[in-house]
Amino acid sequence: MKAITTVACKLQVDKNISAEIDETLFMFAAACEWVNANTPKDLTNKTKMQKLVYNQVREQFGLSANLAIQALRRVCSNRKTVKQKNRNLRKFSPTSATYDARIFSFRESDWSISIKLLKNRVKIPLHIGNYQRGILKGQDPKAATLVKRRNGDYYIHINLEHDVPDRFTTKKVLGCDLGRVDICHTSEGDKWDGQKLKAKRNHYAWLRLILQKKASSGTRSSRRRCRQLLQRLSGKEKRFQQHVNHVISRRLVDKAATNGQAIAIEDLTGIRERTNQKPRSKTERRHSNNWSFYMLRQFLTYKCVLKSVPLILVNPAYTSVSCHKCLHIGNRNGKSFRCINPECLNRCDPDYQGALNIAALGRSINTPGGSGLACRVSFGVREYIQLNLFADGCGLGGFPHEQPVQDGDNLGLLKTSSSSIRPAV
Ligand SMILES: [Zn+2]
Repeated sequence: MKAITTVACKLQVDKNISAEIDETLFMFAAACEWVNANTPKDLTNKTKMQKLVYNQVREQFGLSANLAIQALRRVCSNRKTVKQKNRNLRKFSPTSATYDARIFSFRESDWSISIKLLKNRVKIPLHIGNYQRGILKGQDPKAATLVKRRNGDYYIHINLEHDVPDRFTTKKVLGCDLGRVDICHTSEGDKWDGQKLKAKRNHYAWLRLILQKKASSGTRSSRRRCRQLLQRLSGKEKRFQQHVNHVISRRLVDKAATNGQAIAIEDLTGIRERTNQKPRSKTERRHSNNWSFYMLRQFLTYKCVLKSVPLILVNPAYTSVSCHKCLHIGNRNGKSFRCINPECLNRCDPDYQGALNIAALGRSINTPGGSGLACRVSFGVREYIQLNLFADGCGLGGFPHEQPVQDGDNLGLLKTSSSSIRPAV
């Protein structure tokens, strides 16, 4: 299997070249815009599009043969993406251009790249550190994207292909509960405390608030100073989040790879929309909205692919309020959980419990025949079996492998003959 990763390298660009890069990016975007306006809206086939407008693009925009092809490809792929995601196509801005092996090359001997601009093919030295050098060493990249960032710096995003072995199969699962109190808590007890992060995020929010106030009042020079500070601050919190997410995902994937485990996480798609429907305070919304679990999931996804670790997504419903010993839904209050089953009365950390439940769910997905998520509950002389809580995502569902006697009582439990009772997990 092949996996592609991207490494972003800063370019050392002098004034003459920067003008030519700007011109190239401008023409590339203009060509994309023109192609998008002058071809049938539903056309996404590269070959057909090339036949239709290739010559005109070359004449009108002065792009080299391969850059013109890349512009057509950009339009096709963007159209496909918006169709898939059901969005509108955005305007093409002059901030990036795609390169293939014919118009881009990388040289390790002096850490430089050579790319074709509008008129010339130029050699640009890379301004990179040991991290990027380590990744690029011995590589022969075939594609890249030239990027101009918002602050005016130029970067080349080099695509690297890796051969990765197929995902291994395993019955061992490392469950990870993602949350606000602990950013991540694993079924083996590792955790990343969210309190320090929360304090830092609160600090940033407070700082932004004050600076924004000052930037709209105060003297002229203090207003200018505040704007400058705000600008400097703008990327800082995001970089901090990225760093933390990289650290967490790296540790999880390394651990799973060494122990031969799969990783199971909750599928939190759409959780922000769902939780924001409930009436909540502004601070509360900020707390839950500005940790990027999606980013963490993306980091986990690509790191798992590179190490061939299976990544399993499970339904998050009830994972941290269900007792991991008997699967009853118990009382959760902040950082404490108490099981209400009189036979069990288990108390533990709800995040840790969530991670254990997620691991169990991950195992049941990974194991043919299920994990036997059922337990024995007795009330006097009658015996009940508590069935798979997660089967339909809400409370008590049917167990897929056996048919219980349909004789539910007012406790909401399903009665079953004692012979089919499975041992508790
Ligand atoms: Zn219990």
